[in-house]
Amino acid sequence: MAYETVIGLEVHLQLKTKSKVFCGCSTAFGAPPNAQTCPVCLGFPGSLPVLNRQALMLAAKVAIALNCQIAKKIRFDRKNYFYPDLPKAFQISQFDQPLSQHGYLPVSIDGKEKRIKIRRVHLEEDTGKLFHQKDCSLIDFNRSGTPLLEIVSEPDINSPEDAYAYLTSIKSLLQYIDVSDCNMEEGSLRCDANISLRKPGAKELGVKAEIKNMNSFKAVKAALEYEQARQAGLLDSGKEIVQETRLYDAAKDVTESMRSKEEAHDYRYFPEPDLVPFDFEQALLKDIKSSIPELPGPRKKRFMADYHISDYDAAVMVGDKAMADYFEKCISIHKKPKEIANWLMGDVSAYMKEKNLTIDDLNLKWAHLTGMLKMIDDGIISGKIAKTLLIEMIQTGKAPAQLVKDKGLEQISDAGTIEKAVAEAIAENPGIVSDFKGGKQNAIMALMGKVMAKTKGKANPKKVNEALMKRLKGAV
Ligand SMILES: [Zn+2]
Repeated sequence: MAYETVIGLEVHLQLKTKSKVFCGCSTAFGAPPNAQTCPVCLGFPGSLPVLNRQALMLAAKVAIALNCQIAKKIRFDRKNYFYPDLPKAFQISQFDQPLSQHGYLPVSIDGKEKRIKIRRVHLEEDTGKLFHQKDCSLIDFNRSGTPLLEIVSEPDINSPEDAYAYLTSIKSLLQYIDVSDCNMEEGSLRCDANISLRKPGAKELGVKAEIKNMNSFKAVKAALEYEQARQAGLLDSGKEIVQETRLYDAAKDVTESMRSKEEAHDYRYFPEPDLVPFDFEQALLKDIKSSIPELPGPRKKRFMADYHISDYDAAVMVGDKAMADYFEKCISIHKKPKEIANWLMGDVSAYMKEKNLTIDDLNLKWAHLTGMLKMIDDGIISGKIAKTLLIEMIQTGKAPAQLVKDKGLEQISDAGTIEKAVAEAIAENPGIVSDFKGGKQNAIMALMGKVMAKTKGKANPKKVNEALMKRLKGAV
């Protein structure tokens, strides 16, 4: 690679509060347009903002979880610009005295931990939403005034893949501390990216482009890959890169120029006169800190140390908080972490993905899952039958022992029944038998399959194998 890629990400996060950040209107998603508005969030002259305490608490929780320093003095500023979704013609945001700065997020990249620095985390209000029709545009102000947190990374990210890893890690952390729905489809989590290229070893940053309009983490990665190649092409042919904002078009998988990038001075920031500067009480910060649970990074290390599972398995388990909690509940009564992780990452996850459900949505009690694993260990059911049983358990919510009894799924270990099925399989498949005798060891698997089919998958595989070997070897 002739250039070093430098990426910084801005994540916008809607905080999970019942009401808006500067007024009492509801933030519930899906209400009829403009049903959740008042003079404050519609920007009527003379209306006064009042800061939502819960929004500030959640914002500080994110800042602390991201290892940021909370500012001694916190102030809000007006960011002035005109746009139809912003009736006041300014957004209440934070400029030079943001809530917090200088944090970091540990991100696992290629099995190694990298600390991506966080420049700042600040609180602001969201704008309304525009709906462009054929010959007009409609505005919904329900979103106007929703508490929005801006999390700005330093340009510490060096590839589109690392950007993807950072976003996945930050989303997982935000879900752990329960501050947002993190739903990209409903817009509660959004991301803009800055990207520039420079010669390896260069101190100065290259000219950057800001990319907007990406509605999934995959889209962020794809847009950055496109932009990385576009900028490299320009530099290779000796052309200049223009500092600008570009929109990602997912259908065409390209970024297109939208406008030249504004500088901070274009916004004429000044202190918001209707909200006084304030500081945090130390006791309050202490309370917030103690409300933060064990975070994904430390939890992953603990899983590897305590449960002896691989880096990959631990990362998958920990990435989804509900899954990690479920995993630990299972281990509390069935001390086989690797086996539990395999089922959760395999058949359980496959079912969740197919039906688009979370582990909490599944009708699968953890005592039922571990009960099933114990039945495999005890030789009552085969691993193969367990796959069917698992689906039955999820669909009916019934206990495994009950289902095994109702459906007659017990494993067949009875020597007579197995011997009979083995004898039949050998008699009916002379071709396979002669393959085996001719030295094809794998032919035994084909015979196993025939025996399993005869016993509807219920024969004890170990016993079938023994019986087959005995009979075939004896016949040689
Ligand atoms: Zn309002």
